[in-house]
Amino acid sequence: MLESTAAVLHRPGERLTIETVSVASPRLGEVLVEIAATGLCHTDTTTFDGGNPSCVYPAILGHEGAGRVVEVGPEVSDVRVGDHVIPLYGPECGQCAMCRSGRTNLCWSIKKTRDRGVMPDGTPRFSLRGEPVHHFMGTSTLSRYTVVPEIALAKIRSTVPLDTVCLLGCAVTTGVGAAMRDVRAGDTTVVFGLGGIGVNVVQGARLAGAERIIGVDIAPAKQSLGNKLGMTDFVDGRGDPDAVVEAIRDLTGGGVDVAFECSGHVRVMRQAVDCCRAGWGTCVLLGAEPAGAELSFPPVLARYGRTVKGSYFGGVKGRSELNLFVDLYLDGHLEIDSLITHRLSLDEVNEGFDLMHSGNGTRSVVVFE
Ligand SMILES: [Zn+2]
Ligand SMILES: [Zn+2]
Repeated sequence: MLESTAAVLHRPGERLTIETVSVASPRLGEVLVEIAATGLCHTDTTTFDGGNPSCVYPAILGHEGAGRVVEVGPEVSDVRVGDHVIPLYGPECGQCAMCRSGRTNLCWSIKKTRDRGVMPDGTPRFSLRGEPVHHFMGTSTLSRYTVVPEIALAKIRSTVPLDTVCLLGCAVTTGVGAAMRDVRAGDTTVVFGLGGIGVNVVQGARLAGAERIIGVDIAPAKQSLGNKLGMTDFVDGRGDPDAVVEAIRDLTGGGVDVAFECSGHVRVMRQAVDCCRAGWGTCVLLGAEPAGAELSFPPVLARYGRTVKGSYFGGVKGRSELNLFVDLYLDGHLEIDSLITHRLSLDEVNEGFDLMHSGNGTRSVVVFE
């Protein structure tokens, strides 16, 4: 048992409070990680109003962190004390039907307990004044110390700064991975929403050799970072929805090869479907919709060869593939440093989420050391 400062959300509608929580030792297959830094991501904020069904209160938020292993539980074999790791909200057990399928990076081996805010044995490792505090997304990286199952830890090279590569825990991998999977050299692409995910789709599309990368956003200020990362055109998303689609069709001679939707708004998803070209245009959904939302479009769009699909964590298997992204960063192909516009202490975590809501900057990172 040790003490840890952590950002706790006690109940919906409240601000996060910084508490000193107790963290129990890792049990079977679990690892105690000292978090060095955590990026603030939009998904954390879905818990603020009680709208995220897999957040059990009180909870410790955070899912874009990086840190060092400080203690391992029984039967942990892949990581050792001192290893640098990135907690994964999507584990990779390597043994379930999903992991063995070769068709998906999803692994639901511990999803049931993760979505109840507890470790695989059904109990949380966090407590406050003797009462349980829940894990969030299986990661809870807004705590100096957190416990994560070994199958939900990516061991990374120790030569990269943890307060930068923490973004590989969510935004960078999700955006870059999704683009590299579906974009081919010479393709035309469009990215709806130039936030933390969208700008990374832009740089992933550039890495994949896209010829045209069109960004769409309601904030023209997002243009400059998009341009820096490889965006070739910008369309102001505030216009009439059909006119936005028309503008993209005009720029691409009838429609894009691949469209990415990163805003989570259903009406924007429909725009993304509509600007895919007939025959093979593919629409990739990355933004999470509000609970209960439905997307509709005329079946003929699909009958004429368009594909609508989604992507989770960029289609990347965290434990076996995350170091490929570390290498891209080390080799100078992947831009992460300039995505981090604010570095904050844990005490400033609420201000960090306020910055996100005001559209100020790209990514805020809470640094523990
Ligand atoms: Zn995220
Ligand atoms: Zn699995």
